[in-house]
Amino acid sequence: MTKNKIGRRHLLGGLATGTAALGMTAAAPAYAKGTRRLKMVTTWAKNFPGLGTAPENIAKRVREMTDGQIDIKIYAAGELVSPFDSFDAVSTGTADLYNGAEYYWQGKSTAFNFFTAVPFGMTAQELTAWINFGGGQELWDTLSAKFNIRAFQSANTGVQMGGWFNKEINTLDDFKGLKIRMPGLGGEVMRKLGAAAVSLPGVEIFPSMKSGAIDATEWVGPWNDLASGFYQVADYYYCPGFHEPGAGLSTGINLDIWDSLTKSQQEILRIACQAENERTFSEYNYRNAAALATLITRHNVQVRRFSPEIMRALKKASDDVLNEAAARDPFTKKVYESFKASLENSMRWGAQSEEPYTLSRREV
Ligand code: CA
Repeated sequence: MTKNKIGRRHLLGGLATGTAALGMTAAAPAYAKGTRRLKMVTTWAKNFPGLGTAPENIAKRVREMTDGQIDIKIYAAGELVSPFDSFDAVSTGTADLYNGAEYYWQGKSTAFNFFTAVPFGMTAQELTAWINFGGGQELWDTLSAKFNIRAFQSANTGVQMGGWFNKEINTLDDFKGLKIRMPGLGGEVMRKLGAAAVSLPGVEIFPSMKSGAIDATEWVGPWNDLASGFYQVADYYYCPGFHEPGAGLSTGINLDIWDSLTKSQQEILRIACQAENERTFSEYNYRNAAALATLITRHNVQVRRFSPEIMRALKKASDDVLNEAAARDPFTKKVYESFKASLENSMRWGAQSEEPYTLSRREV
């Protein structure tokens, strides 16, 4: 044993003795006094890749950045309340925060859909542009405040897949009578094509596919869909996810709790959400590629692309669904108009930047 190692062992032993004398364990961080304990309910299974790890990461960062003054305990789907009751739980104060997808609250207001994803809507970059610079966050604040909530973007899956089907979808007739899980306004588009769309929490999809209660489902993309095992219950995996081209997930906090935080604590929570939004988006982009290869080579999944005829019909039905949604109430109309203006702005720029670049990268 070198002298150096003996010295290091001695030093560690000394530290352990010191903390034991103070009644602390060596592993426990030195947190400041006055810990505020908050409860966060989520719509996800415990530590599910990306979706379930995001709230854990946010809680960890907030704990560290506040030196332990804010300690958020995460409850997986169903642990404290059922997943779709998360919003009400935070609105009424049963829980302090939620982590989920805003379109799960569309029963409260159709406008919530726009803060997750709408059919033929925004990519992740476009959504962030609208939320941060196109007036999206201000509209979101107004909407959530009606329910005593403040919400922030805190994850993004990027472009999703079109879903898993137990048969090939070759013509529009193949949608007729199809029992498919598709939440948000995408479900309404499916209904226009004659499908029977349902919205199920993630944890209920696999058993529903297995029992035959549903014939098809969308979920997220290869990384999450591989983890969910959908290749065991469906052979055909369609792209693109016209209904969720960049699904934003969110963290909401009860407004009374928010108002009771110090300015510094509020900023820490906001920035922790923003950091996780960026981190998840990069993780999905990285891991989806490898997971898709695994699905194809190891599980013989058949990847298909919706035909141009089907995409045209989906686009037409989507336009109708969005216009009908906007006509439901003046606030949803206001959100839709703001969303649409920002999307058109992004598309004009995209047509001269990202689109020609990525196309030419493949061509040259
Ligand atoms: Ca989805």
